[in-house]
Amino acid sequence: MTDAERQETIDRAWRDLVATARRTAAEGLVVGTSGNVSVRAGDLVLVTPSGVPYDRLTPEDTVAVDLDGHQVLGDLRPTSELPLHLEVYRGTSARAVVHTHAVHATAVSTLVPTLPPIHYMTAALGGPVRVAPYALYGSDELAAAMRAALEDRTACLLRNHGTVAYGDTLDQAYDRTAQLEWMCRLWLTASSVPGRTPTLLSDAQLTEVGEKLRGYGQGR
Ligand SMILES: [Zn+2]
Repeated sequence: MTDAERQETIDRAWRDLVATARRTAAEGLVVGTSGNVSVRAGDLVLVTPSGVPYDRLTPEDTVAVDLDGHQVLGDLRPTSELPLHLEVYRGTSARAVVHTHAVHATAVSTLVPTLPPIHYMTAALGGPVRVAPYALYGSDELAAAMRAALEDRTACLLRNHGTVAYGDTLDQAYDRTAQLEWMCRLWLTASSVPGRTPTLLSDAQLTEVGEKLRGYGQGR
């Protein structure tokens, strides 16, 4: 890859990252500058900077680190949740990570150890979504708790904090985040009806869905 091609890869990844970060705010998954987004570009990880409103980010603001967290591009400080993002890349096949403080998901994180499997889209995230125990934001302890909760999953909740989802692309990581928030809202809605308890899907039903989803591909 030439230097020009490498630069083009980074520029394109940054544009996509900024667009995704703006989407998390526009679609109500975060408020202000909370939450953060990252994406791989070659051997680099591009991340949203700490404390800058997403609508003010320009191509000159590109922030990139290596997989050890050393900053290699940009003057702005990377997000304080950098350890969490790096842990996802080290432990999974992720190419992009979205972290939000989505309100229904965060509410659920304070109520249960696992999001009850109320909808078949549970299988699209690898199975019932776990809640990682609480730890201080930005800490290695939180990153380790998240990694355990992500075992065989593409998303998890962070107790009293928010969501983490990853994917092969920013769009996929974003869509998984939105699905998770929607399922949390669904469960809260159904479980708040007085005197009634929502029905849940069995392991066998989720396995069946998982097999069907894997068979889908482009021919759907
Ligand atoms: Zn956070």
